[in-house]
Amino acid sequence: MLLTFVDLDAFGRERGVLWNARGGDHMTLTLHWQTTGIEAGRLLLDAIAARFGVTWPKGRVLVFDFDVHHGNGTQHAFEERKDVLFCSMHQHPLTLYPGTGFAEERGRGAGLGYTINAPMAPYSTDADYLALFEQRLLPAFRAYQPQFVLISAGFDAHRDDPLAMINLTQFGFDRLLAQMKQLALECCGGKLVSALEGGYNYAALSACVASHLEILQADEPRL
Ligand SMILES: [Zn+2]
Repeated sequence: MLLTFVDLDAFGRERGVLWNARGGDHMTLTLHWQTTGIEAGRLLLDAIAARFGVTWPKGRVLVFDFDVHHGNGTQHAFEERKDVLFCSMHQHPLTLYPGTGFAEERGRGAGLGYTINAPMAPYSTDADYLALFEQRLLPAFRAYQPQFVLISAGFDAHRDDPLAMINLTQFGFDRLLAQMKQLALECCGGKLVSALEGGYNYAALSACVASHLEILQADEPRL
């Protein structure tokens, strides 16, 4: 199910929305890993950005993807554009599907430098993720000054998830989101939408999503 913009309005707020972009309808959206329906994905992101007042082609949209798999679909859709800064943190491509997302993949043509891949070694922890995020990624995001922030929120990097070998806990996911929310507040008045991606241990997923929603809805970021 993909919530439409009308549904976004139903939340009565323009920030802190989480939606399930994947469930049962893989053609709806290219965000994260889909390699089909890419044009639909581009149009969707364009439409969301327009909804939040981003003016193309000079807009600046930040897409941060922390699903444990590389966001190859999103990268492919936007790798030649500098009006979308795409950043993916994921388990190293030599050790996990889909086998892309090396640090050397930095965008192409006009988009060179506007794709950031942060492959993480198997068994990376909250501390590993947060150190790289805070020291390298967050400064790049801040320098970009996004007008709108989209998060591809996959929770399959959780240590209890059966599909991968990353050892994040709910604490790590919470810290990533809280800092992304703070960034959105600083740069664009809190214009942030989070799209639910993977997560295959349902106990871990439900706990992480509940906390994610709580942080999104809080008046102040919980840093
Ligand atoms: Zn995934």
